[in-house]
Amino acid sequence: MAKKYKNKINKIRSFALALIFIGFVIMYGAIFFRENQILVIIFMTLGLLCIIGSTAVYGWIGLLSTKAVQVVCPNCNRHTKVLGRVDMCMYCNEPLTLDPTLEGKEFNQDYNKKHQ
Ligand SMILES: [Zn+2]
Repeated sequence: MAKKYKNKINKIRSFALALIFIGFVIMYGAIFFRENQILVIIFMTLGLLCIIGSTAVYGWIGLLSTKAVQVVCPNCNRHTKVLGRVDMCMYCNEPLTLDPTLEGKEFNQDYNKKHQ
């Protein structure tokens, strides 16, 4: 299976969005168990936890964004944020690197790991 890389901030953002969605689906699921109060409470709590988790992830994105380096993508000329040594453009998925020694090399997410 070929790996598909995405911009890290975008990836975390989609995760946070999915978490909100899952939270609402779980809370909606509580309707089907309205006969059983304990199940309703469990579902509501789980749903709420997902939404709280998502808020936490959004806060984390905000924190990461301050650490990310803003660069102009050479491919689409838009401002994008690079997190770590290598990352993808937020708009066109062009691989970008902050490390000149990696320039021109095939994109590999492993470059973000410290020592191999
Ligand atoms: Zn781009």
